[in-house]
Amino acid sequence: MCIFCESKCKKLPSNGATITIDCPSCGHYQISSSYLVNLESELDNNYASRKHLVAGFLYEFNRGKNEIYDIKKGDLEKLLDDGHIPKTPMQRLDRFLLNLYKNDDRIGIIYEIDYIKMKDEQRETFTSYFGNRNSITILPLSIAYARNIDELKGMINNLESIGFIQLASIRSAYSFTLSPKGLEQAEQLMKLNFKSNTVFVAMWFNESEMAGVYDKAIKVAIEDKQYYDFYAIRIDKKEHNNDITDEIIAEIKSSKFVVADLTGYRGGVYYEAGYARGLGREVILTCRKDWFDGNPNEYRCIHFDVSHFPIIVWEPDRLDSFKEALINRIRHTIL
Ligand SMILES: [Zn+2]
Repeated sequence: MCIFCESKCKKLPSNGATITIDCPSCGHYQISSSYLVNLESELDNNYASRKHLVAGFLYEFNRGKNEIYDIKKGDLEKLLDDGHIPKTPMQRLDRFLLNLYKNDDRIGIIYEIDYIKMKDEQRETFTSYFGNRNSITILPLSIAYARNIDELKGMINNLESIGFIQLASIRSAYSFTLSPKGLEQAEQLMKLNFKSNTVFVAMWFNESEMAGVYDKAIKVAIEDKQYYDFYAIRIDKKEHNNDITDEIIAEIKSSKFVVADLTGYRGGVYYEAGYARGLGREVILTCRKDWFDGNPNEYRCIHFDVSHFPIIVWEPDRLDSFKEALINRIRHTIL
């Protein structure tokens, strides 16, 4: 049984050290066999009420990438903290609609849920399960970040009452198709990021120079729930060979605004800030005092082209005031 969504899943052949799961709802994922036991108790103890969010994340990961997600120790906390995971019921409804649209943009395609049928067919793989049979596409729970089949039905009822889907009378009560209004809404969600609550952070990834700045000031300021509902996204470039990857570009595109720290004179940070600005996103610039005060003729400085922008200057031993300054800037420029 899948530890996240409780569908009957199967193990794919592997070398023994790593287990690869093929779940009809979540898709493929990997866990090292030594970690699996701990993960199961971790899930029961700390994540019982949020397993469906992990399942939804895995679903989207499988649809979006050509790799298998490898679940490691400490991943669940990071993953659930990720700004992409829908946090509120309305965000889950939006994501459900968007995932339907992304799955197949043919007009009039009929979707169906049928729990009895699901049980029978749980032995099938993710790909064939989600496949199109007799012009009906059977939905996995995880497409909607739904806890169970009843919640998925509730979500379908909600989308119907908003007018985003139409029930298809030819089949069961839970056959439906996207309405013109639903298609329009999905395209709005695709195009516009006004509803986005993620914030891309561009910065120098140098542990000895930048230790603690992200966790103690930048992330906590962005995620200050007293004033707003944003989530910080940082892509550690060490994993990306210092390239501006497609993933980084995609994150910037889907961000509400960007925080770029100019410490270290990193070309990537300047590029990402400029790219975001070009897309019309607000960019909040920050910089450590020694680099901000540096002489432009020396290596340790900021580029003079940006020196006239309002830059929040911070000092490593005063991270609390940096955090406060960043919160104030976000409140005044973004909200
Ligand atoms: Zn699953």
